[in-house]
Amino acid sequence: MQTLPEIDGERHRGSASDPAWWRNAVGYEVYIRSFLDTNGDGVGDLAGVSAKLGYLADLGVDAVWLTPFFPSPGYDHGYDVADYLDVDPQFGTLADIDALIAEAHGLGLKIFVDVVPNHTSSHHRWFQAAITDVNSPYRDYYLFRPAGADGGPPNNWVSHFGGPAWTLDPAGTGQYYCHLFLPEQPDLNWANPAVLDEFAAILRFWCERGADGFRIDVAHALMKHPEFRDNPLVQPVEPGMHPTDVFMSFDHQYDLHQIETVDVFRKWRSVVAPYGAVLLGEMDTRDTERYGAFVGNRDALDLGFVLKIGLTEWNPKRQIDDLVEYLEAANGGAAWEVSNHDQARAVSRFGGGEVGLRRTLALTSLMVGLDGMTFIYQGEELGLPDAVVTGATLDPMSGRNGGGWGRDVARGGMPWDDSLHNGFSTATTTWLQTEDLPRHLTVEFQVNQPGSTWSRYRDLIRLRKRLRDAFQEPMRLAAREDAVLVVERGPLVVVANFGEQPYRYATSADVTVEFESVRDGAVVDAGTVVVQPEATVILLRGS
Ligand code: BGC
Repeated sequence: MQTLPEIDGERHRGSASDPAWWRNAVGYEVYIRSFLDTNGDGVGDLAGVSAKLGYLADLGVDAVWLTPFFPSPGYDHGYDVADYLDVDPQFGTLADIDALIAEAHGLGLKIFVDVVPNHTSSHHRWFQAAITDVNSPYRDYYLFRPAGADGGPPNNWVSHFGGPAWTLDPAGTGQYYCHLFLPEQPDLNWANPAVLDEFAAILRFWCERGADGFRIDVAHALMKHPEFRDNPLVQPVEPGMHPTDVFMSFDHQYDLHQIETVDVFRKWRSVVAPYGAVLLGEMDTRDTERYGAFVGNRDALDLGFVLKIGLTEWNPKRQIDDLVEYLEAANGGAAWEVSNHDQARAVSRFGGGEVGLRRTLALTSLMVGLDGMTFIYQGEELGLPDAVVTGATLDPMSGRNGGGWGRDVARGGMPWDDSLHNGFSTATTTWLQTEDLPRHLTVEFQVNQPGSTWSRYRDLIRLRKRLRDAFQEPMRLAAREDAVLVVERGPLVVVANFGEQPYRYATSADVTVEFESVRDGAVVDAGTVVVQPEATVILLRGS
């Protein structure tokens, strides 16, 4: 067997003087517009989230990540913010968010506000000032650059959502402005200290209202290389390619992952520190050393999402290799997830049906056994597959590029029961039209139902609380094979077998099975545990 890296427990665990609540916590992403619609307009709202906080507390999660609820023209469903200091009327009012935060706190739930600092909406007053008066101080809030030699865009950067990352200045100067997403999402200039000041005020505003943390959208993209050089091409770009494939055809050396962005978060940290708020970055940084620079030193981000492992195809060896690599780089600050509002649902992506569900649970259970935080995306606890979209394509990534894969499949209404629209809304037509789901996938059917997917998630999530001290113990990678990872921490043994054959692991005779990702996932006999294929079990020694 290969030499196994040891994870330095003290380093990962933090210390008694740093009793961070998020260590070992489980978060839950609420995609507000698809959670619960209480006013019958077909769009989920804040009152809907408030109404279901009890449901989330019963599930046992510690924190709720609310997707953006700020005023927005909605070109990217809220990730195009027109005012960071207010609530979009379709979701409610500031009073509603205040009430939601207070109710969440009453139930012991923390709230993450989703802040979008890489870009604003083109409707934001800063951008409007920048394009109506070229001498306005707001001009330098954005990235306006002279055209290239041929009069076209300044460099070869591409947008995540198709086409160049540059659009001609509507002010008619002949310059271009940069947008790594839609033209309606102009990128901010993070080299301008005024932008930093604006966001310091925004962060304080939400901390004062009780936010416990921030999920930071595209955190790896804020600073750009000052010379705006071309990104190296790594594979040919063919006509008709999906925007994601075009984007992946470049090595993003100059538009993403700049080390200077770490300094931005150091400053953010000093802003939020007096409130004890947590910084959780969406970090699509595949170079783990660079990822570690954002997260691992505890002076910039507290936590960084790891997108590479759970949000790809099922590939046990690669997933385990990546997991160990990120675990070491993160120094306890990894935020794990297998689904979010930007990806096909894990159950469908990992093979569909029972197979997809089994793999989803095996991977999630391993993540829960590791340091950091694990996030569940709404509906994951019910084992939802991708939604079947019956109406128009609304995701701009596919909608504006003639079809192809889009994110709508992850954004169907939450199935509360088997009434119209699964109880998500009483409107005739919901904002995104999808097929209703069968009764066995609804909350009503699964909650407190022995053997249901919901019950399994509840048991898994609650285990972390029940054995909180054990989950804080130093971790040791006790075995690692192509499709197997065994982690021991104090009295806990987490055995993940992603392979197609049963896996046998020798442990102590006094071991008990505390959790199995599938029914009959493990058999223990005289200190040897046999873990079924594509299953994870969590064992407790000395009980
Ligand atoms: C969000 C997406 C959004 C993009 C641009 C992402 O990481 O999660 O939903 O489209 O950032 O803001």
